[in-house]
Amino acid sequence: MSKRPSPISATVDFDAQGVQHGFLKLPISNDESAWGAVMIPLTVVNNGEGPSALLTGGNHGDEYEGITALLKLANSLKAEDVHGRVIIVPMMNMPAAQAGRRTSPMDGGNLNRSFPGDPDGSVTEQIADYFTRTLVPLVDVVLDLHSGGRTLDIVPFAASHLLDDKQQQRQALEGAKAFGAPTAMVMFELDAARLFDTAVESQGKIFVATELGGGGTTTPERMVIAERGVRNFLIHYGLVDGELEPPAEPQVYVDMPDASCYVQSEHTGLLELTLALGDTVSMGDVIARVYDMTRTGAVPVEYRAERSGLLVARRFPAQVNMGDTIAVIAEVVDSLDL
Ligand SMILES: [Zn+2]
Repeated sequence: MSKRPSPISATVDFDAQGVQHGFLKLPISNDESAWGAVMIPLTVVNNGEGPSALLTGGNHGDEYEGITALLKLANSLKAEDVHGRVIIVPMMNMPAAQAGRRTSPMDGGNLNRSFPGDPDGSVTEQIADYFTRTLVPLVDVVLDLHSGGRTLDIVPFAASHLLDDKQQQRQALEGAKAFGAPTAMVMFELDAARLFDTAVESQGKIFVATELGGGGTTTPERMVIAERGVRNFLIHYGLVDGELEPPAEPQVYVDMPDASCYVQSEHTGLLELTLALGDTVSMGDVIARVYDMTRTGAVPVEYRAERSGLLVARRFPAQVNMGDTIAVIAEVVDSLDL
């Protein structure tokens, strides 16, 4: 059964030349606004022949490195700088971003678990559907800027995925390396089926994902990485002229071959990580302790590394519940070329 057209309309013309700032308007009707709209800001920069790129942040609303970098780019990118078309959406899940939350306060929706989306679904599903059926078909390459948000802190990296189409896989990997984060990765997803990544890749488009820090804030170091990376991405795919700017230290390549990279808590309590982000770890090392907060004198539970590698992500808040990811350990590799 074919889906009806998206209820979302754009206030910009994606084919018009020059710089346009506007909105995606999603009709809503609720107690606050009977004939209202969710207004998702976007910028389109269009200049003659060339590839088309879609740059997205705020897929999760509390991941501020990407949101901030894209708001800055939207303010500064000039039409004469671009060959082709750059579409910038700093806050894909606008209701979540305004609330400072990972998910939407309107429907509880996690946008990156809502693809390919549904024009007759919730607000979050309608946003996903618009990206899948309207924006992604307009472009050749997509850069989706994530970070850990309020509950995770992540070593800044750009990543691609293993794909059936090896040329598509190679082109995405080259973009992930060119982004120039301290780390580049081929990423294993815990559940790929409903990701934006998969919605883009299944259309044969090039998709590069990033994780650029976390904790629900930004730091100067991570903003440098985010902004340099966005610029490198545009240069690499031919949208902007210039020289690629590599990271200060040689890039570290890591691989996440399977789900054993993720260490998840089987206890509730107070978390003590014994390693810092980016530290190396050997199999069997104690990486974390969880303390019972209801009493003194109880022996903490120890979590040990089930593999050797690099600590690439950690839980950010000190309190932990059963099922929370405590740590992610990735394998350092000489090459990502598979
Ligand atoms: Zn995210």
